[in-house]
Amino acid sequence: MKKNHKYIFVIGGVMSGVGKGIASSSIGKILQAKGFKVNPIKVDPYLNVDAGTMNPTEHGEVFVLDSGLETDQDMGNYERFLEMDLKDDDYMTSGMIYRHVIEKERNLGYKGKTVEAIPHITEEIVSRWKKSAEHHNSDVTLVEIGGTIGDYQNILFIEAARNLKIKYPDDVAFIIVTYLPIPGSLGEMKTRPTQNAVRQLNSYGVQPDIIIARGTEPLDAKRKEKIAISCAINPENVISAPDIESIYDVPINFERDKISSVILKVLHMKGRVHNGDLDEWKTFVKKRAKAKKQLKIAVVGKYFDTGEYTLSDAYVSVIEAVKFSSYWKDTRSQLTWVNSKEYEKNPKKIEELREFDGIIVPGGFGESGIEGVIKTIEFVRKNKIPFLGLCYGMQLAVVEYSRNVLGWKKAHTAEINPKASRLVIDIMPEQKENLKNGNYGATMRLGAYPAVLKKGSVAFEAYQTGKISERHRHRYEVNPEYVPDIEKAGLIFSGKSPSGKLMEIAELPKDVHPFFLGTQFHPELKARPLHPHPLFTAFVSACLKKQSS
Ligand code: GLN
Repeated sequence: MKKNHKYIFVIGGVMSGVGKGIASSSIGKILQAKGFKVNPIKVDPYLNVDAGTMNPTEHGEVFVLDSGLETDQDMGNYERFLEMDLKDDDYMTSGMIYRHVIEKERNLGYKGKTVEAIPHITEEIVSRWKKSAEHHNSDVTLVEIGGTIGDYQNILFIEAARNLKIKYPDDVAFIIVTYLPIPGSLGEMKTRPTQNAVRQLNSYGVQPDIIIARGTEPLDAKRKEKIAISCAINPENVISAPDIESIYDVPINFERDKISSVILKVLHMKGRVHNGDLDEWKTFVKKRAKAKKQLKIAVVGKYFDTGEYTLSDAYVSVIEAVKFSSYWKDTRSQLTWVNSKEYEKNPKKIEELREFDGIIVPGGFGESGIEGVIKTIEFVRKNKIPFLGLCYGMQLAVVEYSRNVLGWKKAHTAEINPKASRLVIDIMPEQKENLKNGNYGATMRLGAYPAVLKKGSVAFEAYQTGKISERHRHRYEVNPEYVPDIEKAGLIFSGKSPSGKLMEIAELPKDVHPFFLGTQFHPELKARPLHPHPLFTAFVSACLKKQSS
């Protein structure tokens, strides 16, 4: 550990869902702009060992790291804001920590001692924070503690952070992100929930150094003063964080209230860079604000009984990836969620897809809405509408092509019908074993794998290189047995694993279709605001071209 290494803990008060993850990512971005090396850590207090078995429509997207670890969607925000590839040490759950401590106890790792939540769990937590900091050789470790003050689940993490503060009082800062409601009947912003949240934090032995006051409106001077007095904090340390149009404006907005100088003061640090702060970021933010062109893109899948809100959480990386590529092309893309089941019930309805400039079929699991998705892919292939298939989207494009071009009417994926006569998408032998044993956690092909691209292909042209590495999360693969016939019929596997056995990208040549490409991997996981993903950019370009033709 470096001397004077700093820790910032971000904790939520009042209620969940007010943007702790974005606040933490933005603080990280601001510190990077001041010349510091930052490592973000997400703490999820639940007992799941990782996010792999969690339902995305309930919990949000499962964000996969290069290593294959299945984590929380906030990790995606960190990677996007901070332009970093995060590691296993940067994510932890109570389940992960308890499992480790219990296994250590079973192996006599505590040499006969009584093993207890305090100090053994808290020590394990701190040792993981330190490991992550060392791993990144950072100056500042930014820890977001999931949940809200008052939860039972996150108390041990707060206790671990408190221990660090006692040991290193000048090197540890606490930030609480609260919410100031404006009740409709009163029409004015209320500070009391924030005061209560801070008192509750105080009862754990922690005094916040900074309060980030979220709300629909900016905080006025009077309320800042009120919070400052009641929470025993300087008014400058209360940061106003009103709702804004884009999460990417947040770092700039925080700086309006001079959050970086407050943080530097609290942690006894001196900024290393003075001019040029956040320059690239500001260019991106301006691009977004000024984008003039409009695209209409349909995302077709099995959406049903969930509202808009959960969908946008479940597909957050896809949504952001489209945004980045669009903004850099002076474009705003409007995404429409289309329920593929509708096309099963009412085949004529599919004609509505003509209205769109492009279609995305994102990843997914299971049978629901699948025939509607296959119909969608047939429609966009025949009508030359730009198509991007992500994981399940690619697999179903292979099924569609096999059925409708090769005439293999019974072609299917083993995920839906393992007895189909032509399993063009099949399970890998080692996965069969896992499923037989009821082993579902972390048993897919997970994480970054290299692929080799075919020269002259649409994919090669987009990436401008023949060697790529992309992240995976799936159980099934294109069955290599059928590849020669499928390619002969015109669907080209332009990306393959280095051994040539696993199909990574399927595409139609440019002279056949303006853009028809599917990936076995999830390119959206590596799209960044300042480095949009080449495949999404190629897709957006194709949509713009279609629109203007
Ligand atoms: N259900 C498919 C599989 O497991 C695709 C998974 C996905 O889209 N992430 O292979």
